[in-house]
Amino acid sequence: MQPEDSKAVSFAQASYTDWYESVYPSLCGYGLYLKGGEPDALSADEFEKRDWRILFARLSTWQDTLESFTHRLLYQIARSIDGAYPDYAFLPPWTDVEIFDRGGVPWMLGINSKRGAAAFDVIGISNSIVQELVNLAPMLEHSGIPVKKSVRMASADVPLVILGGANAIHTSLLFEPDPMVDAIFAGESVELVREVFCVCADGKRKGLSKPEILANLEKIEGVILPDNPKPTQKHFAKTPDTSALMIGAPKPLSATTAGNGVIQISEGCRNFCSFCSESFVRKPYREESLGVLLRDAYSMKKRDGLGNIDLFSFNFASYGDFYTLVENLAAIYPTIGLKSQRMDTVADDPRLLPVLHVLGKATLTFGIEGISERLRIYLDKGIDLSTIMRGMEAVIRAPVREVKLFFILTGLETERDFEELRLLAAALKSAISRAGRGPRLVFSATALVRFPWTPLEWETSPMVKDVQSLYDAFEKIVKSEGFEARAAAPAEEFYVSQVIARARSPKVVEALRKAQKKTGYLYYMHVTSKFCNALRENLRGEGLDPDEAAGALPLDDESAPWIMLGSGLKREFLRHKALDCRKALEITEKPRMQISRPVPVSSIGRIHEKIGKIIDDRRKGARVVAIGVEIPRGMKGVPREVAGSLLASALMRAWEDLVPHYMGFDGSFFCKGWDYPALFGMDILYLRFTAEGEALLGAHLAEDGAKARIDAFLSPRMEISATLPADVPDCVALEIHSPYPFKAQQFLSDRHIKFTMRKPESSLSVCEIAAQSLKKSPIKRLSVRSESGVYNVSLVASVDFDARDMLTNAFETPTKEDWVRIDVITLFHGKK
Ligand code: SF4
Repeated sequence: MQPEDSKAVSFAQASYTDWYESVYPSLCGYGLYLKGGEPDALSADEFEKRDWRILFARLSTWQDTLESFTHRLLYQIARSIDGAYPDYAFLPPWTDVEIFDRGGVPWMLGINSKRGAAAFDVIGISNSIVQELVNLAPMLEHSGIPVKKSVRMASADVPLVILGGANAIHTSLLFEPDPMVDAIFAGESVELVREVFCVCADGKRKGLSKPEILANLEKIEGVILPDNPKPTQKHFAKTPDTSALMIGAPKPLSATTAGNGVIQISEGCRNFCSFCSESFVRKPYREESLGVLLRDAYSMKKRDGLGNIDLFSFNFASYGDFYTLVENLAAIYPTIGLKSQRMDTVADDPRLLPVLHVLGKATLTFGIEGISERLRIYLDKGIDLSTIMRGMEAVIRAPVREVKLFFILTGLETERDFEELRLLAAALKSAISRAGRGPRLVFSATALVRFPWTPLEWETSPMVKDVQSLYDAFEKIVKSEGFEARAAAPAEEFYVSQVIARARSPKVVEALRKAQKKTGYLYYMHVTSKFCNALRENLRGEGLDPDEAAGALPLDDESAPWIMLGSGLKREFLRHKALDCRKALEITEKPRMQISRPVPVSSIGRIHEKIGKIIDDRRKGARVVAIGVEIPRGMKGVPREVAGSLLASALMRAWEDLVPHYMGFDGSFFCKGWDYPALFGMDILYLRFTAEGEALLGAHLAEDGAKARIDAFLSPRMEISATLPADVPDCVALEIHSPYPFKAQQFLSDRHIKFTMRKPESSLSVCEIAAQSLKKSPIKRLSVRSESGVYNVSLVASVDFDARDMLTNAFETPTKEDWVRIDVITLFHGKK
């Protein structure tokens, strides 16, 4: 047994709630990421009541995966199975790792149940990028899960470890005799994911052994056992089928995601860019139907209190009914988030930029990829110089604030290619000068990682030392034309990614683990040179050439381990594409740049005007409605944006006619200038509605039983106040309960507030603010009662009172973070 395997059994199966309560002030963001109790998540009590439990573990932090909907989708699939209890775990932030270790707490800790990985039946590792695999062994080790399959299999109590996710197909690193995971599942089909979960749950209920469950899993398309891989391939669902499932999914306690929904409009991409693993491993391109999307977007808004919806796709404008979709969504949603589009779409579709403008999109990103025509052909990007310039001419004239152009450095760049980059930058500079305006242009470069199951699988990668020179040459040219240049990732990140992506010997994973152990490195969105060097050294130690470990196999070689886990595309097809890419490198003629004017908008319909009018009409009369709420202690520390979306949802669920009229959350009284980690109690939430919506809401709120109807949806997270404040208060009353002594006199004196202290009772001190201080002092009244080691402070203060200043300086807290343990109950005090 390895040292980490013996340590593995030492973690408790019990809840770590007490530990969390004892350390949360010291955790990153005061432990909000681990607070749990997310709206719409199953209650922690269900952990004991249900008989099959699965923990979805991300190999990155909560913060870094907040916008991903994968683990939330997995949660929804799992909860649809009778008797199943799902939960999530994340890599602890690096600042918190020591706190976990000091407390003997598993890193993989369910945020809602507060149970460690060992207490679950299955650990579902959700792996989105190759670099994250560095974190797999330390995450298991520090969670009481043996890293070796043989050790895990020897104990029936250790959960099964199954890896899936967007990167699952690039996990040949894990193909070894005694692997870190028991099974790998590649595929996006919701039905097959559910089948994987059902096989595990049924296996447990029937009393099957883990090897028996794995044998049943292996029968599912796309499941492979990495210690004994048998050929399989991904299965494709006809449509993404995810939008309905996401309705009512748990909501992270995050201000950035509250009120924002994501709807998947398509799966994969129509194009065949030769470097693009995302596209090649998700063929064919599939779309969700317009009807399904509109139905689910509507229900999602109502159920989840949304004010924005992001369209998830690789290229939103590829969606067949894109403009109809946007037009219909604009009639329900005040804002629509769109991420990426191709330059050729902008160049050839004059409707797109004006539509993006009316949707308020001021920053655009385009993948130009190759720095020259021949490299773009090699990368099969399918956009020539004339198309780029035609698109950019349109972009430069459009009201766009910033444009990011992404380039890929292949390692095949010659002086001639760099000269073409210079010509492109110069042409853009003169286009901006001709237009007399233009957006801020940022040129971003990244070194190309050649992924298996793409046509570049067999292509040689550059040496890590050459990548930095390529970045330098790129930067010099871009800057010489007066633009900003950025390296999207350091050369070390390229190298480590390439080694993992094309791993084909168990020695690679051995070297990776040794390098990780030696350096203590964990991947937090950045690869360090220390870890990169340690990996190279350990690869050498394993008898591998560090450069060859990331190298390519000959085109006719079919010995690579990843062949066993197929993408669904034929190898011959990929080889054929690979030969086309190689031919592109022989191109010698110079590209011709024909700068043609973009097609005028007037020549093909004016959809943007239609959409713009819908948006304008709704925004024009929009009103902010103030609703008083009472927030209980359980919601202490939860961002008010989350409370806002809960209230919006409650209102729309109570009265369906409000759904099209809700226009988003507009903050709260205690959102601005108040630190809310310690605050709860009364607040005013501001919600925007169309003019018609405001009238409807007013009428509904006046109905008999309106409060009870809303509170039924809000309970137990909050309730609306029986009476709304007639005016926005200019004074607040705070009731502060602190276990730490309160130094009233020193605090007031330090802030030059004159006062006299009275002691009407032995446990009560009253600070009378002197008349000459009263006008300027934010504190108007202050008293403190100390009884049984609890300090109850009552104060009346102006709305610009700096509560954090008092909480962090006026109480004798054991650590500087413990101020968040103090309870601050907010009340409104009306006018002065
Ligand atoms: S790079 Fe973009 S356009 Fe090209 S295949 Fe990938 S997702 Fe599609």
